[in-house]
Amino acid sequence: MSALGFLLYAFFSGFIVPVASFFPATFLNSKVFAVAVGLQVQVVRMLCALLITFGMIKVLEIFVWESATNYRSIFDSANDAIFIHDVSTGAILDVNRKMTEMYGYTPEEVRSMNVAALSQGAYPYNQEGAMEWITKAVNGEPQLFEWFAKDYSGRLFWVEVNLKKAVLGGKDRLLAIVRDISERKTAGIALRHSFDLLTVVIDSMNDAVSLIDVYTFRIVLVNRTFLKEYGYNHESEVVGKTCHEVTHHRSEVCVPPDDICPLVEAVRTGTHSVEEHVHYGKDGERIYVEVSTSPIKDEEGNVVQVVHVQRNITERKIVEEKLKHYAVELERSNRELEQFAHIVSHDLQEPLRGVSGFAQLLSRKYKGKLDQKADEYISFIVNGATRMSDLIRALLTYSRVGSRQRPLEPVDCNSVLKKALENLKVSIEESGALVESGTLPTVLIDEVQMIQLFQNLIGNSIKYRSGEQPHISITAGRIDKASVPVPQAVTGRGVLFVIKDNGIGIDPEYSERIFQIFQRLHRRDEYPGTGIGLAVCKKIVERHGGRIWVESEKGKGATFYFTIPG
Ligand code: ADP
Repeated sequence: MSALGFLLYAFFSGFIVPVASFFPATFLNSKVFAVAVGLQVQVVRMLCALLITFGMIKVLEIFVWESATNYRSIFDSANDAIFIHDVSTGAILDVNRKMTEMYGYTPEEVRSMNVAALSQGAYPYNQEGAMEWITKAVNGEPQLFEWFAKDYSGRLFWVEVNLKKAVLGGKDRLLAIVRDISERKTAGIALRHSFDLLTVVIDSMNDAVSLIDVYTFRIVLVNRTFLKEYGYNHESEVVGKTCHEVTHHRSEVCVPPDDICPLVEAVRTGTHSVEEHVHYGKDGERIYVEVSTSPIKDEEGNVVQVVHVQRNITERKIVEEKLKHYAVELERSNRELEQFAHIVSHDLQEPLRGVSGFAQLLSRKYKGKLDQKADEYISFIVNGATRMSDLIRALLTYSRVGSRQRPLEPVDCNSVLKKALENLKVSIEESGALVESGTLPTVLIDEVQMIQLFQNLIGNSIKYRSGEQPHISITAGRIDKASVPVPQAVTGRGVLFVIKDNGIGIDPEYSERIFQIFQRLHRRDEYPGTGIGLAVCKKIVERHGGRIWVESEKGKGATFYFTIPG
């Protein structure tokens, strides 16, 4: 349009120039033009100028329209909601597409709304609460803050607001760029919640917990029990200090083999470990702890921190030490007792032999020569001396179980049983007993004592037989493989031996008493014996680390069990 106006202007302006110096005016003559067109050249020139102005305005309009379109599309493609406010009234002048998506209102609705309707409404999330930021932003100081926004449905969500003053279209405006940070905020809240939960859990633990940096050995965190156990009032007394400084009162790291540092071990192995350590409280008191250490790794798998859970085992340790002391004491006093029993029984035999010998001599020489009463008294002395001699011999046998110990060796129990049965040959034959056995294992034992054990138990089965033919079975098997029926809760590794008979049986009431020294359930005239046999069996089994017991009912036979560990 303006190009055409310019051409016309140039063409017609030639009429007023007597000698036209430029094309196309050189072809025209103003006089001829006035005659031909009937208009003054000035009029035509004015019309041409108007035409040029009009054309230029149109060009400008296109330019303005294009830049406005560009601005809008940029405005609408922003990923944050944008509000343009009037600086003085705060009124919403314009919003972008993201704002309408975020808040659910149409641009028209928003323009007629007060910004207060787009927030939670209560202080500090209202205009009053935002006043400080708004004032600063209006004064040219951009503001960044978090805000609790509200959409058309009343849903509240967290936003981050960037408030700044800007000149738009030549006017001062307040620009609010709003970002939805609900997810970030929710994740943050969840993180804080789990941290709070963790703190509560750790603080309510009865064990001391500490988190330690493996590069510096410095304590990062401790729980309440830690402070209590080690005698501190506040975590600032320990956090930031090295673990060896706080719990060991030393300036350097614990060094194996005397002191294995659980932290160093966790870094070395990368796995969880449990160590016993001696720690010291704030005032230097000894604390025995069982330290359970778990490594914490970074993304590359390097151990960066460790968690120590320290269980105070001081009381247990004291009890253990006391028990150890008592065990040593008990062993010593048992040994003394055994020696005493041995010496006494050994030494008593000598004078007793004299008493017994002379009483028998007296009986032989003067029987029938004195009165009847004297014969009776002499026979009491002879019987008493014999009985006493039996008891002393029994005592001697019992004491020898402890005093004559041979080292434990792997021995085939089939041969042990064979030797025991050879020793019992006469009574087996006399009683007509039927003795059966399964294949017996090889175990770590004192062979002589094991022969005695078998002999005592099988001997009793023959001695305490019922009217029927004695029937005795001997079996054995590993406890963990259940190769023999295990009647009680017998657990662990080892071998279980079972000796079963069809004799007179035992009242369960006496099933423990019969293993005590000199305890018998019968008169001597019914069944001979001293009541030492089962006490010896118990001592032998216990010396091997096993246990012995009986299961029986009166008149229904007895089953003796004993275990040998290994
Ligand atoms: P003793 O046989 O000399 O009496 P023991 O210590 O061997 O001494 O046995 C203690 C008691 O246990 C016996 O008096 C007996 O009553 C009872 N006893 C032991 N073995 C058996 C058995 N196989 N059957 C029944 N009773 C038994």
